[in-house]
Amino acid sequence: STSSILICGGAGYIGSHMAQWLAERGHTVTVLDNLSTGHRGAVRWGRLIEADLMDPAGLKRAFSGQRFDAVMHFCARSLVGESVAEPYPYYSNNVTGTLNLLEAMRDHNVSQIVFSSTAAVFGNPISEAIDEEHPRSPINPYGASKLMAERFLADAAHAYGLRSVTLRYFNAAGALPEHGIGEAHACETHLIPNVLRAALGQGPALKVFGNDYDTADGTCVRDYVHVQDLAQAHALALGFMAREAGAHTFNLGNAQGFSVQEVIATAASVTGVQIPYDVAPRRAGDPARLVASSEKARRVLGWTPQWTALEPIIESAWRWHRDPPSWSPHAHAHAHALGHIA
Ligand code: UDP
Repeated sequence: STSSILICGGAGYIGSHMAQWLAERGHTVTVLDNLSTGHRGAVRWGRLIEADLMDPAGLKRAFSGQRFDAVMHFCARSLVGESVAEPYPYYSNNVTGTLNLLEAMRDHNVSQIVFSSTAAVFGNPISEAIDEEHPRSPINPYGASKLMAERFLADAAHAYGLRSVTLRYFNAAGALPEHGIGEAHACETHLIPNVLRAALGQGPALKVFGNDYDTADGTCVRDYVHVQDLAQAHALALGFMAREAGAHTFNLGNAQGFSVQEVIATAASVTGVQIPYDVAPRRAGDPARLVASSEKARRVLGWTPQWTALEPIIESAWRWHRDPPSWSPHAHAHAHALGHIA
């Protein structure tokens, strides 16, 4: 059966891939976004409501106009390093903003939510593959803000019967260039886009943040998961919530880690470009290794990721970065770099 879903943060990277997934399967999609880091051009499926989670009146208008079966909440500040330098906006947006959203849902009798959380709630992990029961001990304000919101959901299940699925993403990556969506941050901090932009001769020189970690090659190890596989998990979560009351949590990753150096080497083979980089000091807030156990998501939700190898993930991102749409903040730099090459 089809349903009506409010995608908060649907103009952003992961939210736009969610909208594509749901719309393609006949669901009605409405996007709520303040366009602070998202883009109007990425809202290609469904209506856009421009509103901010920090503005309860705007939220009230969004919920008064239409009946939603469930909410998906992707609105967040999500940069580890920035959260260390500027914690207040992280707590106001991710904590207070989430609380405002939950209150608006309660006022309008919307009782199901899929919430985007993060591997950053675990801090420095104490086991190899991180499962859902691994102790939560965030080492940066971003992770701390997400952990607080996870707690809201558990408390709300108990007090108000709110149904929720929290999905803790490891490292979201990849794009769907054939659908005109991908990662398009004005200020890009993530590894794969920075590596690919360096391959294109765009952006600042690539820096590897630390090569003295306790890992095989000294660089940080992360678990990269394609945004379309994340979207699949959210769609499965909708069905699961309809059957099961309570607050549920799943980790989403590929159960395989790649070091920063391995990402650079794979990108070099995908692009055919030898990618120059400098080794820089460690970035504040980065744990050495984050690799998921997603056994629970596979078993309970029936999640079957399709993008399990690093190469196709990077290849999809490469096709996106090579030919960005005009609304992407990288479109101008791109035209410029091509002109330079020609
Ligand atoms: N990283 C890097 N250079 C960059 C961007 C990231 O060396 O230009 C490293 C970063 O320190 C971390 C890993 O790549 O160890 C993944 O960082 P990213 O920001 O992509 O994701 P995060 O794990 O912080 O969510």
